[in-house]
Amino acid sequence: MFKRGSIRLKLTICFSLALIAVTAITFLTIRLASGVVLRATIRDYLVGTVEANTHKIRYVSQVDDPSGNLYLPWGENYLEVDLDFMDVVNDVHTALYTADGKLLYGKNPLARRTQTIPFSTSRIWQIEEDGVTYQLYDCPLLLHAQEPVNLWIRGIVPATQSVQQLQSITRLSLLILPVLILLAALSAYLVADRLLSPIRRMEQTVGQITRGDDLHRRVDESGRGDEVGRLARAFNHMLDRLERSFEAERQFTSDVSHELRTPTAVILAQSEYTLERQRTPAEYTEAMEVIHRQSQRMSQLIGDMLDYTRMDQQSQRYPLETLDFSRLVAEATQQQAQLAESRITLTTDIPPAIPLIGNQLLLSRLVQNLVENACRYGKPDGHVQVALTETASAITLTVADDGIGIPPEEQERIFDRFYRADASRSLPGTGLGLSMVQKIAQIHGAIVHLDSVVGRGSTFTISFPKKI
Ligand code: ADP
Repeated sequence: MFKRGSIRLKLTICFSLALIAVTAITFLTIRLASGVVLRATIRDYLVGTVEANTHKIRYVSQVDDPSGNLYLPWGENYLEVDLDFMDVVNDVHTALYTADGKLLYGKNPLARRTQTIPFSTSRIWQIEEDGVTYQLYDCPLLLHAQEPVNLWIRGIVPATQSVQQLQSITRLSLLILPVLILLAALSAYLVADRLLSPIRRMEQTVGQITRGDDLHRRVDESGRGDEVGRLARAFNHMLDRLERSFEAERQFTSDVSHELRTPTAVILAQSEYTLERQRTPAEYTEAMEVIHRQSQRMSQLIGDMLDYTRMDQQSQRYPLETLDFSRLVAEATQQQAQLAESRITLTTDIPPAIPLIGNQLLLSRLVQNLVENACRYGKPDGHVQVALTETASAITLTVADDGIGIPPEEQERIFDRFYRADASRSLPGTGLGLSMVQKIAQIHGAIVHLDSVVGRGSTFTISFPKKI
């Protein structure tokens, strides 16, 4: 049950138990200590008074009236009791007794009860009477007389008001304890409630996000520097990332459907038109060519999309290793030059054996995409230059053409997925090549730079930092 209960309940129980334990231990310790100290004080006072009184009685042969002392006949002489004999002082009653228990002088509130208690030295008796505890102490009287005088001073003291007060405080405390427990539980509940309220709000927000599918909402993290505040910030950070990734996914799906819609629509329209009635063989051939071109476009689009997503989501599938970048650039350029449709002159300036830490597959893809673009958007009989340079801090790949160029307002956007500049819409392409180049450069920590003038040509520069 404890495992399943709410944190608030657990905190309340733990806090109350701890508070009760501390209160009970403190109370018992104080009660015990004060009890012991009080009893010891009373006992010392009793012994002190009784022993002091033993010096207040003398054995004399004649009465000295002017002294005002009390004279008790004892045998042929007298017992002289000083005026300042303390028969009752601070609840201590003192009385003079004969050895056979006859009270000669003084007071004893428990005379009858204590009759049976024999006189003894160095012992304190505890007597219960009407719910009050009394302490009793005897001390023999040593008189300087010729014949032995067997007399005792007996002192008796009740548990004073203080002890009784202590007992009533104990009883009261036992009555108050349930109230105390209740108060402890209540305050623990309120404290736990206050501490946990931000977490409850967080739970509500998460619930709203889940129910309403509203990823824009954020947990309140204002003004909190504690653990809860840090949790809220971490949570919001996670929501930011989730939102970005959902948004990217949504955008990608919408882009893909948008891109596939045109070729699909053309294929559908073309086939419906052709099938409407009997056509001549030339018309069928023309229709098949249109369908074939659009299918090819779709196939390339799907291929590029698969490559792009794989790279975007599983970049760990492309491990980095030290490779001969000069050779890789030369080979990739060569392959692409063979595929180029227009008559383009391709020149290279690649110093041999420049090493680079990277992924062979991705880097080949990067070079191919750039060279393919340079050839595709170059002017007929134009010129494409691929160069590689190495400085102390970077290795730079440059792909330059003297083709159609890119207007300034489109230069940033051409790196977006599926974006194609107006001037190149009539040419084949999917609009994914440069976003792939950007992604590959990012994986290698490289920076992409573009210099382009409309009608004069474009230069793409990729700078790979040298890893020390
Ligand atoms: P694609 O070439 O398949 O259209 P890219 O992402 O490779 O897709 O390029 C995006 C757009 O950038 C191209 O459609 C084109 O408009 C422009 N572009 C890319 N390279 C060049 C270049 N060398 N010269 C002129 N325009 C270019």
